[in-house]
Amino acid sequence: MTHGLRRPLVVGNWKMNGSCVAARARALALRNGVTSTDCDVLVAPPAMHVFPVSEELRGSRIGVAGQDVSEFPDGAHTGDTSAAMLVDAGCSHVLVGHSERRARHGESDDKVAAKAFAALGAGLVPIVCVGETLAEREGGMTEAVVLRQLDAVLAGALPGSLDMLVLAYEPVWAIGTGRNATPEQAQVVHACLRARVARADAGAAARVRILYGGSVKASNTPALFAMPDIDGVLVGGASLDAQEFLEICAAAR
Ligand code: PEP
Repeated sequence: MTHGLRRPLVVGNWKMNGSCVAARARALALRNGVTSTDCDVLVAPPAMHVFPVSEELRGSRIGVAGQDVSEFPDGAHTGDTSAAMLVDAGCSHVLVGHSERRARHGESDDKVAAKAFAALGAGLVPIVCVGETLAEREGGMTEAVVLRQLDAVLAGALPGSLDMLVLAYEPVWAIGTGRNATPEQAQVVHACLRARVARADAGAAARVRILYGGSVKASNTPALFAMPDIDGVLVGGASLDAQEFLEICAAAR
């Protein structure tokens, strides 16, 4: 990450793990450990833990993100969480289109885009996740897949709103597998995503932060950050260990 316009961003995706007490304790450990202003740090707790974690982190250098959001503002959507509810509970960002949502909950590109727009409409920054499966990579489809996923968002974005986006490239084959993309493999995809944003808005392309996610840990973070188009990391499993996550944040600086 070499571009002065883009502060490094580290996001911890806690997925569906742990108790409220454990989430608060982890938040407290992070609160005490993240003191630098050199990078932005977010945690994404499960929906049930968003509010207590936000309380624990109030006034700290760590923000809170939702893991998912409804594309609808309110009403008969049992089990869903609206963008306004996430804001009310203390979120500034929300993940949309995580591969686990796309694959296991059948979320289409259009649905993910609708979620991103619902987030923007409520003042939440959507972190739009894109990524290819192993079969797609082996079939030479990586760029076509991630650009198709990105295009669904770009196509409906209001003029000027692209500055608000964060993108996350998460190859599906690297999530939770211990097998991460090499920094060079990730850089190729990040550059391709940035070039696509530039076609819509060159200024926004220079500012949009593109995170890499997939088996990130403290030991592989520095090499990722050495790449010019990798502006941050989205960390799953390793973010559940506060000490490891703090080391990742330190490496990001
Ligand atoms: C994720 O959940 O977004 C993720 C990247 O997981 P992991 O770091 O465990 O691969």
